[in-house]
Amino acid sequence: MAAEVLAKAGLAVTVYEHKRSVGRKLLLAGRGGLNITHSEPIDAMLGRYSEATPSLAAALRGFTPHDLRAWCAELGEPTFVGSTGRVFPASFRATPLLRAWLARLEDLNVAIRVGHRWHGWAKRPDGGVDTQRLTFERSGGTMIEAVSDVTILALGGASWPRVGSDGRWVDTLAQLGVQVATLRAANCGVLLAWSANFVGQFGGVPLKNIAVTVGDVRVRGDAVVTTAGLEGGPIYAQSQPIRDSIDRLGSCTLRFDLQPDLTVGQLEERLARGRPNDSLSAMLQRIGLSKASIALLRELTSNQVPRDSKTLAPLIKSLSIEVRSLMPIDRAISTAGGVAFSELDDVLMIKRLPGVFVAGEMVDWEAPTGGYLLQASFSTAVLAARGAIDFVARPE
Ligand SMILES: Cc1cc2nc3c(=O)[nH]c(=O)nc-3n(C[C@H](O)[C@H](O)[C@H](O)COP(=O)(O)OP(=O)(O)OC[C@H]3O[C@@H](n4cnc5c(N)ncnc54)[C@H](O)[C@@H]3O)c2cc1C
Repeated sequence: MAAEVLAKAGLAVTVYEHKRSVGRKLLLAGRGGLNITHSEPIDAMLGRYSEATPSLAAALRGFTPHDLRAWCAELGEPTFVGSTGRVFPASFRATPLLRAWLARLEDLNVAIRVGHRWHGWAKRPDGGVDTQRLTFERSGGTMIEAVSDVTILALGGASWPRVGSDGRWVDTLAQLGVQVATLRAANCGVLLAWSANFVGQFGGVPLKNIAVTVGDVRVRGDAVVTTAGLEGGPIYAQSQPIRDSIDRLGSCTLRFDLQPDLTVGQLEERLARGRPNDSLSAMLQRIGLSKASIALLRELTSNQVPRDSKTLAPLIKSLSIEVRSLMPIDRAISTAGGVAFSELDDVLMIKRLPGVFVAGEMVDWEAPTGGYLLQASFSTAVLAARGAIDFVARPE
């Protein structure tokens, strides 16, 4: 996106990518439906970001969800708003969008050099770095130098390194004194040691329509049992408080409400109405619990589910589990941490490296899923590119 803005302003642009093709994470994001942005008003949207800094707000106001949707439409992918306000391209996938976008970049004469890993900058005789001389390692191992008036780094976080962003840039910037908050997993599942029996039967099965509470924040949705733990919307949405609690206390209590549509009183009454000879499963199915939810109840009570409605009803509404670890960063949807905003000016230039700008997930902001990640990545790219255009136009 930064390349497009720069090229449209008449600058000669080269994109360097260390993988064999560009946009691999965008394609990965499109696999389950590319949720490109959100339809809520911009002020509400700003509240979703952990770092509501003036420059992030300026980025989002300078290139809004409306602008992003217009951009998609221009590329032949008009967008639609899903039932929860999330916005998707018409085809639901990233492939048509990326294909049309790369054709546009080619028309704008943007050169794309794949198989080039950015390493840093050439050293100046005084020991500092010359930010106009970038160094790259080509896939064969040879090193090359490229000269540039201005640079935008958009190297991503450290999740799903297989598709490119591996966070190896952190050391390069940190060695130059740039403060980088540790990269951590965000929007990710939790690790849990299930019994072989439970995971054998329910691995991959969704726990539909439950609510997950962490502290006093409750999120409804579907979670998915996996061999390693739990994934899914209500877990991802709580990954920041879960991480904070594990950091502070070593663990975090998750409370599941397996029947969020009924109160404890209503549940108690319905459970008490059952026939005395009903099996426990029959009782629980009658109050709307799925087989997976019933199995979770058994799993977390070591198969000692009480039959007495006064004890069972509150348990169904607040079944707790201790979590000691999030999923590793390489399986997370996004990354928290990154280049500290205090290192950046109001157009995302690194203050101690004039002419070097940063954009996207490598900057220290965090947001839930819902289209906020891509929106902020695009918006910060536009802001950095506009800053870079002004930078090169400045008299020497
Ligand atoms: C499974 C999954 C699903 C997702 N779904 C959504 C979604 O629906 N909606 C949403 O908003 N977000 C989603 N995201 C998050 C979203 O994809 C990212 O937030 C976004 O791609 C970040 O963009 P970026 O340009 O900052 O980084 P990236 O997209 O990671 O791009 C960084 C690029 O830099 C390259 N690179 C890294 N280091 C170097 C180097 N040293 N030299 C040269 N090149 C380098 C990488 O190979 C990569 O191509 C999803 C993420 C995952 C993993």
